[in-house]
Amino acid sequence: KLLYDMDTSTRQLLGVADPAIDDQPCSDSDTIPAKRRLCHRCHELNHKNRMEPLDLAHLRSTLQYNSLSFLETKRQPLVVCLIDVADMPWSLYGLEKLASIQPNSRVMIIANKMDLLPPAALKHEQRLREFILSTIKNRINLEQIESLSLVSATKGWGMKSFLKRLSHTILPSDDVYVLGCANVGKSAFINRLLALSYGKNRDKYRTTSSKNPGTTLGNILIPLHAFGLQPDAPFGSSIRQHYLIDTPGILDLSQGNSPKCLLTPEQQKQALSKRHDTPFKPVTFQLKPGQSFLLGRARVDIEDTTNGLPVLFTVFSNLPPHITKSSKLPLPDQNSSTHFHATSQHQSHASTDICFAGAGWVALAGAFGSASLRIVLPQDVTKDACSI
Ligand code: GDP
Repeated sequence: KLLYDMDTSTRQLLGVADPAIDDQPCSDSDTIPAKRRLCHRCHELNHKNRMEPLDLAHLRSTLQYNSLSFLETKRQPLVVCLIDVADMPWSLYGLEKLASIQPNSRVMIIANKMDLLPPAALKHEQRLREFILSTIKNRINLEQIESLSLVSATKGWGMKSFLKRLSHTILPSDDVYVLGCANVGKSAFINRLLALSYGKNRDKYRTTSSKNPGTTLGNILIPLHAFGLQPDAPFGSSIRQHYLIDTPGILDLSQGNSPKCLLTPEQQKQALSKRHDTPFKPVTFQLKPGQSFLLGRARVDIEDTTNGLPVLFTVFSNLPPHITKSSKLPLPDQNSSTHFHATSQHQSHASTDICFAGAGWVALAGAFGSASLRIVLPQDVTKDACSI
């Protein structure tokens, strides 16, 4: 423990060898060895929450970072794909990428970070399931969705039932690929599965989990028996060890490498510092035609409502919404704005949710009849960053 916490120069000064820390990052297809060794990068992340800057160009050429091409040659691979419920539009990019590379995959979808939703939202589990599945089906062409599990890796919610479901879905010839966008919680999820199934051995296989996107750089293989999942080999076949494979997080490199494209660097810091610890606190306000609000770099203008009635908005985000008059804001470019109509007759039910990648989401409620809204996104952000 002391050796881990000593910096390199102190170790050199004392002439202490450093048997437990490798200079190279954990790379391609390393099975984690029996005695847990940490590369320098994982050590810094684990013990000091410090990440060296990534040279993405270098990583792409040397490691498997951001590449799922190894799946192309597999026939109907079993894939566990994680999405972040608090960051739906952006985290769906992982499923999109999978669909483009291997649409025949048998996919088990994990909606992680359920603990970030406010308690009221957890009461409507069925509605949440329908919303997630319909959003996925509208946007992504995947042939075989096996299941959707709502879980929280950090709190352990829903993990036991997922493991049970996995044990029923897995075939004797399967490896299990775990993938998803960077920071959706893949490592935390795997560590929780290990803790559930193989408590005493979990440190042997534990993977590095951190707030910083881009933590896992290459595929990490963990034998399925560590999860109590080693299926029986069919009679007469030669037995091969099968693995659960933690893959590097997927980043949308077309969007400037940034998963939080709707946030300025300052806003990213603000969102990240709170996000992983506390549930979103809903903020409710009402707006009339001619008013607007800003969330991160996104903007919503209220253009018109039935009889000028106010619309009730509830914002679920770690960022405070800024309310202002639309006339104070610059006229938006046609290419960067989307118009849409929402209707509601009920005071108590939200009629529409608008999700903003990385920033949270906004629910519309109130007996306003119908309303015309204009959503304006920054020009450097694609329209996928917002879903309705
Ligand atoms: P990976 O990049 O997909 O492997 O993600 P990590 O496992 O490194 O997790 C990224 C961040 O999300 C870390 O700060 C985790 O603590 C956090 N995280 C992971 N799962 C959960 C969860 O279920 N709830 C909350 N609130 N945070 C989570």
